[in-house]
Formats: sequence, C-alpha cells, structure tokens
Amino acid sequence: MPNRCVQVAVNAPIRDLLTYADTFAETPLVAGQSVKVPLGKRHVAGLVLNHEPNTSEVDSEFKIKAVQSIVEDRPPLPEQHLKWLNWLASYYLHPLGQIAEACFPPLKKKGRKNTQDQVLPDVAVSIAPTLSEGQATCYQNIRKSFGRFESHLLFGVTGSGKTEVYLHLIDDVLKSGKQALVLVPEISLTPQLVERFQARFPHQIAVLHSGLTDRERTDQWWSIVDKKKQILVGARSALFCPMDDLGIIIVDEEHDSSFKQDEKLKYHGRDSAIMMARFHSCPIVLGSATPSLESWNNAITGKFQLQRMPSRIAGRSLPDVHVVNMRDIRQARKDPETKPKVTGNIDLPFWLSEPLYEALVATLNRGDQAALFLNRRGMAQTVQCIECGYVHECPNCSISLTLHHHSELHCHYCDYGMPKKDTCPSCKEPGIQAVGLGTELVENDIQILFPEYKTARADRDEITHRSHLEDLIHRMENRQIDILIGTQMIAKGLDFPHLNLVGLVMADVGFNMPDFRASERSFQLLTQVSGRAGRHSEDPGQVYIQTYNPEHESIRNAIKADFESFSLSELKFREELNYPPFGRLACFRIKGQHLDKTEQTAQTLVDRAYHLSQQYPQHYGGIQILGPAPAPISRIRGKFRFHMLVKATGNSVLQKFCAQLISNQKWVSSGTKVLVDIDPLNML
Ligand code: ADP
Ligand code: ZN
Repeated sequence: MPNRCVQVAVNAPIRDLLTYADTFAETPLVAGQSVKVPLGKRHVAGLVLNHEPNTSEVDSEFKIKAVQSIVEDRPPLPEQHLKWLNWLASYYLHPLGQIAEACFPPLKKKGRKNTQDQVLPDVAVSIAPTLSEGQATCYQNIRKSFGRFESHLLFGVTGSGKTEVYLHLIDDVLKSGKQALVLVPEISLTPQLVERFQARFPHQIAVLHSGLTDRERTDQWWSIVDKKKQILVGARSALFCPMDDLGIIIVDEEHDSSFKQDEKLKYHGRDSAIMMARFHSCPIVLGSATPSLESWNNAITGKFQLQRMPSRIAGRSLPDVHVVNMRDIRQARKDPETKPKVTGNIDLPFWLSEPLYEALVATLNRGDQAALFLNRRGMAQTVQCIECGYVHECPNCSISLTLHHHSELHCHYCDYGMPKKDTCPSCKEPGIQAVGLGTELVENDIQILFPEYKTARADRDEITHRSHLEDLIHRMENRQIDILIGTQMIAKGLDFPHLNLVGLVMADVGFNMPDFRASERSFQLLTQVSGRAGRHSEDPGQVYIQTYNPEHESIRNAIKADFESFSLSELKFREELNYPPFGRLACFRIKGQHLDKTEQTAQTLVDRAYHLSQQYPQHYGGIQILGPAPAPISRIRGKFRFHMLVKATGNSVLQKFCAQLISNQKWVSSGTKVLVDIDPLNML
C-alpha cells in the first residue's frame, strides 16, 4: 500500500524541508506534530509541516525513509504558531527545524502531583485604580481594535501609567476568554513587576525568564499551554511558547535593544511579536517613553496607531536635569585662581565635577539614595581630545573612528584608516587620549570620597546571574545601598522610592560608538536614566549629566524630555544616508580561526555580492554593499571577525539578495563561517 508522505523541518542546519513517509496508518500525522526522523546515520527531531500533495509510492531510487516516532509530551503546535515559525525562518534566513526546538520546554511534563508554585509568591490583591483621562483615552482607543490585527504605539513619558493601561486591557481580554502575552526586557522582568501583575490577576500569571530552573520553565510552559494560566509575562523568548487563543500582545520598553537576539536565530522580539499578532488577528501594544525610530516612523506614517500620554500620573513632575560642561570644569581647575572650592576642601577625581559632588553630599546628608551611571558599552575604544572634546569621525560614514594598537584609527564600516596623532586637529592642544573610564574606577574613587556610605556596583562583571540583580534590587529597596554605581544595564525600568539623585558620569562615550544608532541610544539612555530619579516624591528628582558636548542634539533634547524634536532631526539624518527605518540593512559576519582565510572569505563574499547585484540590475540595482572591514571587536575567543553590510531600499529585495548570497557556501574557506543578521542592531 502506498504511504502518505509528510514534509518535515528537521533540527539540523538544513533550510529545505525533507520528505518522509507517514506510516502511522491509524492516526495519520498532522501539521505541527513533533517527530523523530532518520537523517544520515542519526535520528533528529523534526516538525511536521504538511502532507505532500500526491501521496506517492515510496520512491525506489531516492528511497524515502519513514518517520520513526512521534514525540510524546510535545503537543502539536497550533496553526498560527506554524505560520509564524515559517515567517521567522524565511525572514531571518534560518532553518525552521532548528527554530522549532525553542517552542518546547526542556523537561517532561510533571505528573498529577501538585507542588507549590515557587516562581510566583502570593501577594496581596490590589484593586484597579480609576484611569486618568490620558490613560482612559488610550485604553478606549486600543480596545476598539480587539478581535483584529492592529499595532498601537503607546508613547508615554516615564511614570505616565503605561503599565496600568496594559492591566486594564488584559482584564478585558481575559473576560472574553482569551490569553495575553506580555514581553518585557529580561532586565526589567523583576519581582517588582511580576508582583504588580500577580496582585491584579491572582493565580493567572505564568512567567518565563532566564533565571528559572528547567523544572520551573517546564511547569510555567505547561500552565499556559494547558490554559491553567491566562497571562504569560516573559522575556523575548516567551514568544515561542505556543498559544492558540491570543487576545492581545504587549511589548513594554519596545525600543530596548535586548529584544534582539544576537546569536543563532537573530530575531527581533518586537518585530516578531508584531507578526505573531498578525497571525492571531489581535492587537499589539508597543509601549515606550523613547520609541525606537522604526516604530516612531511607523506611527507618524500611519502604519501604527499613535497613543500619547505626555505627563506623569498625579501631576508628579519630571526630574530637574542639570548639564555640566566638563570642558569648563577642566579649564577652571587648571588655574588656582579659578579652581572651584568644594565642601571639605578636597581634590576631586578628574571625572567628578563640583556640582555633581555637591549634589551627592546633599542627597546623602538627607538620607536619600544616589546612582551614578557610566554609559560604556562594548570594548572598542574611541579617542577624544580632553581639552575640547573633539572626536575623530570617519569622513565617509558619519561614525567615530576606533583605536587599534594604540596608534591607528579605523572606521569599522568602510575601513578608512589614519594614524593617531596627539595634537587635536580642532583646538591644536596635545589633548588626544583614549577614552576608557570604568565603573570600577568610579566605585574606588567614591569609596575614598564617601567612606561612611555603602556602595554597590552593577555591571556585567558583577551581575552575571539573575539572582544577583534581584539581590541588588532588594538591597536598594531596603536602603542597604546609598550609592549605586552601574552601567546602563541597571538604567532600565527600575523603580526605587528613595532614589532622588542620578548622575551620568560621562554622557559622551555613547555618542561616539561606531554605530549609526549611537545618538538614538544616547537619547534613550539619557531619558531612561533621568526617569529613575524622584518617581515617588513630591519634589522633582535631580539629574546631573556630565558631558564635553552640552550642545549635542541628544543632550539638548533629553533635558527637555523632547523625543519629538530629537526624532525629527535624527530621522532626517537617517533618510539622507538611507539607514533604517528608511533603508533596510543586513550584516554579514565572517568569522574564522585564521586571519588570512577569514579575510579572504570576506573578500570573496563581497566580490560575489557585487557580482550578484550587477547580474540582476533590475532587481538589485538599489543595493549598496559596504566592506569588508574588520568588526569593531576584531577578535573574540581567538576568532577573527569581519563584516559586510548590505543596504537595500526594501525588505523583500534584501531577503532575496541575502538568501541567494548564502544559498551555497562551497566557496567559504574551511574553518571559516559566514552568518547573516537581518535588521542588525549590534554592529560590534
Ligand atoms: P509607566 O509604566 O508609564 O512608567 P506606571 O504604570 O509604572 O508608569 O505608573 C507610575 C506610577 O503611577 C505607579 O506607581 C502606578 O501605580 C501609579 N498609577 C498609574 N496609574 C494610576 C492611576 N490611574 N491612579 C493612580 N495611580 C496610578
Ligand atoms: Zn567609514
């Protein structure tokens, strides 16, 4: 008897679907089912996608192998979820069978024995407050799109009550019998946030984040799939938990770059969530005080509905922002006549200005808490003139040059290079120096200045596990920390009642990252950091921004919390250079053990890209190819790294071009890998 055949996406680096015979005569396989199939000499997991149209005989020449078994414990994925996986695979050019693994929990389902829910402690039930006028308008507008796909950008300043709007919407969705998905950046998924949801919807919350054990993750997953819980709150990977009756998706802090995964499947959680809402025909709400320029552009062009909440709840004021010009500070300190005196008549470290020091003294004397942020990302060092703040930029790319081997300046987009000189081309002083101030140095200095106060440091060296962050939050809440020193990782979403002073030690570092999004990130960071101060007090919080560039666009607008002015000028710059959200980008990463082979593969890739674009000028005429250039971090764990950037005018052109470029990889040198990142965020 001829067997029916099914197409299977296998968990292997194979982009094509493979055909297998379905020998389960009594209960034929269905789409979405997990199976084990033979592949070469092994057996691998696979996902059944559909039946072959003609159920042919088993082919004698290319013998079609049979599906080996059905994986128990993995319920078939719902239709919308399959469609979504298909979209992910084709958009991000990644094998579907490998993506599908993320849809299932790590362990087997537990038996009937009900253990206590450790992940979500009981909290006192809270009653929903009456919405403010601004909240009510947004809530009503979003409600109108229940039951169909629509994207809303909820643009509300920090503390405007966005979370409360989400809670009201979710309440309605639950009443209609559907489920809700809430995505937040991993770092904001704190006990504070979960408790707020739990208090409103007791016993209805499941959470998924990186701090769970395999057992906890498995249990949380099943509680949603079995519909015991109705609301899933999670980091980006929670998207993969299959839900078949979604009524709303919320993406909070939608601008946050942690929604983008840099490894394996390089997907963006926000963009993927929008597609998921589309397949579920439900609304999606993207919330932010500093929207990404992609979302903002979608809102002002009408693709998204724009909902605004321009003021803080209960008339609480936004913080007072003071800008300290570090150029003036340096100048004044040079001369004993003009050198400012401070409380205690001490000498301050070079990075600490007198106004910020005095504010620290006053805050600590009052018994309040202070936080110092150092906006320092990545490893690449830039150079800057310590006299005037001048930064070397690439003449071709509008990004800053980075320092290599202490003596050469390089552009990481186009490979422009020049030797480093000590004399500043702008002020002619011998002031050019590598910029590299660390959180550790800041903490040491602070401990010397304030020995009687308790400090804590939060950066990637200190906070390597979720529990460290939770412990830090706990100590902040209990006033066991007076001065918190950290990188941007702690600048997001945290809410401490007694934190009334925030200092940004060196705002400039962020402007000069080798990335066209540097200004956007700086603006977001400045605004988010400022939003941490004085959230609960009647008096406005105090924010000090130390900078060499007080006239910089990001700073001028951050003072006024003026996102719209900032976005206006930034969008103009993006449009001129055809960067997103106007043009689309793909970044090819070439990695290898040997410098020469890696470089050669990168060059071959670029040659092939030029060739392809010239071969089909009618399709690919608008494509721009940049590189090859060494990646800003040119070597990681012994591997050399190169980049090639592709700019295109539209999405589908970019996809086709990239898919064609990597479809065959026979030309790639051995020991070398070529990976593609669609809509890259991390240019390092
Ligand atoms: P956002 O998410 O925009 O930063 P939140 O939702 O956290 O703002 O709200 C800020 C504060 O205001 C929270 O303490 C919240 O409990 C409170 N709040 C929000 N909405 C209301 C309301 N309608 N009435 C009273 N308090 C509110
Ligand atoms: Zn350049």
